[in-house]
Amino acid sequence: MLLIDAETVTIIAPSELILNEKGLADMSKEVMKIQYEAGHEVKLSELSETDVRLLRRVIEICAEAKEKGNYPFGCLLADRNGNILMEQGNCENEHKGDCTGHAETELMRRASQVYSKEEMWDLVMYNCGEPCAMCSGAMYWGNLGKLVYIGRESTLKKYTGDDIRNPTLALPCRAIFACGQKPDMELVGPVPELEEEFMKLHEGFWHPSEE
Ligand SMILES: [Zn+2]
Repeated sequence: MLLIDAETVTIIAPSELILNEKGLADMSKEVMKIQYEAGHEVKLSELSETDVRLLRRVIEICAEAKEKGNYPFGCLLADRNGNILMEQGNCENEHKGDCTGHAETELMRRASQVYSKEEMWDLVMYNCGEPCAMCSGAMYWGNLGKLVYIGRESTLKKYTGDDIRNPTLALPCRAIFACGQKPDMELVGPVPELEEEFMKLHEGFWHPSEE
């Protein structure tokens, strides 16, 4: 169970929860607290021309995934000079409902079969949004050195709500990476000036129950 504020995630293991007479959890018992460095919103003027070009390409990849009947998410892998090495859109429907078909996890799966962990540390993933727990895990295990992303999870949630196809996780990727052993991994994002363009692809796409 999670309690979230800007820079701290408190995790209470289900086995440690104390239930009151109504069967509700006593949330005062903290079992584990994750402290992480909160990111800051990045302005386009703070990014290089290459970064902006690659992030705009990511939005095109999202649109291409949507056109193919997948969910409008996408990412790419580049070297430190901005050369695109791999591109990947969401492929869940293309892969017959494979729930691991998030663009970032799929990209990491492919990239880790081509690049060594040492090589991956020198590469950069450009991503449409803040990665979920699964994709953050794939980046961690694949030894990705740098992530640049556009959208905020909180913004996406306004569109997806509780749609069963994408009930977003309110768990910041920075909190996940903070649990690891790689404090030097670079994280850049969100980039609000590009977020609107990305979110246009999600307008009317999801159907939360409160709609
Ligand atoms: Zn994901």
